[in-house]
This record gives sequence, structure tokens and C-alpha cells, in this order.
Amino acid sequence: MDSPIKCLGKWFDSSLSDKANVERIRSQLQEGLKQIDKSALPGKFKAWLFQNALLPRLMWPLMLYEIPTSSVECLERKISKHLRRWLGIPPSFTSIGLYGRSNQLQLPLSSLVEEFKYAKTRLVVTLKQSQDSSIRNAGIETRTGRKWSASQEVEQAEKRLQQKDIVGITAVGRQGLGSSKITLWSSAGNMERRRMVQDEVRAAEEEDRRAKAVAMGAQGAWTKWTTTERKLTWADIWSYEPLRIAFLLRSVYDLLPLASNLHRWGLQDHPKCQLCDTTGTMEHILSSCTTALTHGRYRWRHDSVLQELADKLERERTKKRPRQKPQMIQFVKDKRRLKN
Ligand SMILES: [Zn+2]
Repeated sequence: MDSPIKCLGKWFDSSLSDKANVERIRSQLQEGLKQIDKSALPGKFKAWLFQNALLPRLMWPLMLYEIPTSSVECLERKISKHLRRWLGIPPSFTSIGLYGRSNQLQLPLSSLVEEFKYAKTRLVVTLKQSQDSSIRNAGIETRTGRKWSASQEVEQAEKRLQQKDIVGITAVGRQGLGSSKITLWSSAGNMERRRMVQDEVRAAEEEDRRAKAVAMGAQGAWTKWTTTERKLTWADIWSYEPLRIAFLLRSVYDLLPLASNLHRWGLQDHPKCQLCDTTGTMEHILSSCTTALTHGRYRWRHDSVLQELADKLERERTKKRPRQKPQMIQFVKDKRRLKN
């Protein structure tokens, strides 16, 4: 009772339950977030630290211990709260915007719940496919709480994949017959099957997010856009000013302090544009206010960028550079020839 045992990377105490371990994961996360928060780095670096330092450390204990899905969701909410603050976006910003993989704007962040489900399904499939028959038949249960069951999810994914086999390869649009190749479930090996099941789980999670986004009024408006998707990489985020990231995210999810939003949030009496009598939506303010157009405001915005560029180019062009002497090559006479 005094000294818990660690075996194969897992802690066992006298209660033989994972309660204390779940508590340990929770405090590890809290401590990690606090440590990152205390570092005097800019917000974007803090987000990077979470994604590349804290999250990988949490994944192993999350896969190993019996932790209910609802607890993981609770942990994710804590993480999202910090991420929003670090990226400079309001608390009302949807988590779909942070973790979505098919959004118009995709951030390089992973959802803890999705990674947890991914890891748990890998565990289920690994045990199921084990070479050792005694492990296969031991009936090891991967418990994940009442809300979501890993074994059921794997079963469903397998059924979906088998059904895909029956449907076969379909050509989309103007694709020629047989131009696309997919791996068939029936002919796939163990490794491939594991990957396919995991991909299915990820796809199901993304589908869930998408369904929620469509149901959202303002913050899901991007689902109707026809523009191409944009993936933000860490390299992009490094080069952006903090305010630019915040503006970009707010503009995609319609959270900018525009007249229509201020009215919706109860901070202003009317939703009218400051210049004309039309409702001041994002589209109106950013590109289609007729008054702003006749005043030449949009052109001014455009021209100021050109002005800036022209200034820089002109300065470079007229800069006086010290003239460099052409470098001559010092030839050495061939002594042998001289002797001859
Ligand atoms: Zn207007």
C-alpha cells in the first residue's frame, strides 16, 4: 500500500483502479499548461509548445489508463481555453475552428479527444490482431466510459470498410474508370487494416465537427463558402504578427467587432453601417459598402500597399553603392615553359 508498483510503463496502486492515475494525468496537464503560461513567450509560441511538447507526453498515459471520454472532453475544454487566450481570440470562439481538419482555415493544432480516440482504437485493434492467441482470446476490455466505446467504434469502422469493399472503386466527376486506387479491406494486411480503421475514426470525428459547424449560425457561415481551403502552417504563424492571426481567425468565424455583431452582442442599439444605412455585416464592411467605395476607401487601402512597395523599390534603386573594383585573376607564369 505504501509503494505503488510501476510495470510496463503503468502504475499500479493498492486500489487496483486507475482513479489515482487519471488524477495524475489531470494534474500533469494543469501543471504543463501553467508552466507554458508562465513563460514570457508570445502566445503563438505557447500554442506551439502545447502542440509539440505537452500533447505527445499526455498521449501515452491517456492510451494506457482507463479514463472516461467525458473526462478527456473536460481536459480538452481546459486546453481550448488556454489556446484561445494565447491566439488572442474571444472565449466564444468555437473549438471546431481550433481543431477542424476540413475547415476553410485549418490550424496546425490537434484535438485531445480525437487523439485519445485514435490511440484507444489503436489499442483495441492491436489486441485484436495480436499474434499470440492467448492475448487475442483473453477478452481484454478497453474501457472508455459510457459516452463512447472504442470497441464499438472499431466494429462500426470495420463494417463501414467492408461496405466500401462491396461498393468498390467509384469514379468521381470526369475521372476515367480505374484512375483512382483504394486499398480494399478484404485484401489488406494487418498493418494496413489498423491504419484504415484509425483513419475511419478520424473521419467520423471530423464528420461530427462538420455537422455541428453547419448547425451554427454565424460561426459556421464558412461551410457555405466556395473559396479554396487554407492550411496555416507553423511557418506562417511564425511570420505573422499576433494581431494578424487574431484578425484572420476572427474574420473567418465572424467574430470581428462589426456593427451587426455589436448589435447581436447587445453593445449597440442598431446594426447599421457607420457610413450608410445598410446592415453592417462583415461582407459589407470589408468589401461592399457603396459609400466607402465612392469615397475611395477600398482603393486607398489597396494603393497604400502599392505606395509602400514603390517607396522601398525607389530607395533601393537610388541607393549609392560603393563601386567595387573588378576582381582580376593573378596569373602565374609557367616556369617549365620558360626553362625550355
Ligand atoms: Zn456601409
